[in-house]
Amino acid sequence: MEFKTEFKTQAPHIKIGVITKHNNKNSAQALLTTKQAFAKSAYAKACKAFGFEGEGKFFLQEQSLLIVCVEALNTDSIREGGAQIARYFKSLPYERVSVHIHTKLDEAKAYALFLGALCGIYDFTAYKSKPAKITLKEFNLIDEKGECKSTQILKKAQIIAQSINDVRDLVNTIPEIATPKYLAKYAKQLTKDIESIECKVLEKEDLEREKMGAFLAVNRASCHAPRLIHLSYKPKDAKKKVVLVGKGLTYDCGGLSLKPADYMVTMKADKSGGCAVMGIIKSIAALQAKIEVHAIVGAAENMIGGDAYKPDDVLISREGKSIEVRNTDAEGRLVLADCLSYAQDLKPDVLIDFATLTGACVVALGEYTSGIMGHNDKLKAHFEKSASESGELMAQLPFNQHLKKLIESKIADVCNVSTSRYGGAITAGLFLSEFIREEYKDKWLHIDIAGPAYVEREWDINPHGGSGAGVRAGVEFILSYQKA
Ligand SMILES: [Zn+2]
Repeated sequence: MEFKTEFKTQAPHIKIGVITKHNNKNSAQALLTTKQAFAKSAYAKACKAFGFEGEGKFFLQEQSLLIVCVEALNTDSIREGGAQIARYFKSLPYERVSVHIHTKLDEAKAYALFLGALCGIYDFTAYKSKPAKITLKEFNLIDEKGECKSTQILKKAQIIAQSINDVRDLVNTIPEIATPKYLAKYAKQLTKDIESIECKVLEKEDLEREKMGAFLAVNRASCHAPRLIHLSYKPKDAKKKVVLVGKGLTYDCGGLSLKPADYMVTMKADKSGGCAVMGIIKSIAALQAKIEVHAIVGAAENMIGGDAYKPDDVLISREGKSIEVRNTDAEGRLVLADCLSYAQDLKPDVLIDFATLTGACVVALGEYTSGIMGHNDKLKAHFEKSASESGELMAQLPFNQHLKKLIESKIADVCNVSTSRYGGAITAGLFLSEFIREEYKDKWLHIDIAGPAYVEREWDINPHGGSGAGVRAGVEFILSYQKA
């Protein structure tokens, strides 16, 4: 068996649609409801005979009906319900499922259901010699009263789910294949799929010319050359410009400050931020939003070897600031420092970086929540609101002047790790802040997605593996910023 190096999406293609009546042919039905509403429904009695009283899900074989009970029928539960239904039918031989939601429908609810289904059906099978076949081809919402008319929501759900599933594929692709060059190839392919996207790739010599001393040091011991990928989407009469930066460590063994064996597994996911910004720009371009967006990916590999950068080294960044290296596993911030410098030259109205930056962020917020950092309270609140509306969990982590002192260096301008073991997510954010020029301090946000980017036990709409964290929140923020 030879692994494909061409990019091919792993998500099964299911059609989504709104129908007014359930069609029986080779179809199953699903009812998404609450425990209370279910108790009053016509099925309660039949299910009780099997011991099901409205906790979790139950499949009534005779009627080909799946009942899914959730806490409340809000958009978050409906999205998760959509994923659960799609996931359940992955292993059953039906071609169609039609879903009835036990509540008054609106577009937000319909959108949540479809997005959940399209993300829930995802399965990464590229390395299975005999992947299980999925029969399901259609996923429909039953709307008897014609409450949601817009075809816009179907299009938006498809576009965003496709971007999320693409990001998952990239993140799940093994490090032997998904090298910086591979990410650059994927980016170039994007410009063929969506004409309005342009792509520029900087290779090692270009990074040397750009004086990206921090970025280059991280990649030095790898046999794969680094790439800086710059995607842009510039619609006519766009009034605002958002620049995104993503950490794209295609593998991170920690460098000479080598990770313990257990911590090294899943480090193919250290490119999640870079993959997310490519997913965001793809969605924004496909939705034809009237806003200029750039996505910059710092793609590198952190390895060991005779040429590796060392703890004790001092690196000169593109901004001219010197960095004392005390731990080579704090490499993402070094790559980002130079990418953020490049990004500021584009004169953004808003600059946002996405990175699986610190384990400390996962300790602080748990594995389901991303951290939002920055200097502008209004901008942080705006992003947090967009994230919440998109269904992603995010929370603010506040900077303060005391934590800032912990990254001071005796021999250079700044040190790449803190002198304290506490507050590591924030000190990493403060390190990045050192490379943000005064005029952009209030325009910058740092999003640490280390918690939700990679999933080891499936939750919400996320299967095992890469989750596509950051895509929904980023797209929703840009769409609302365009209107603001
Ligand atoms: Zn690292």
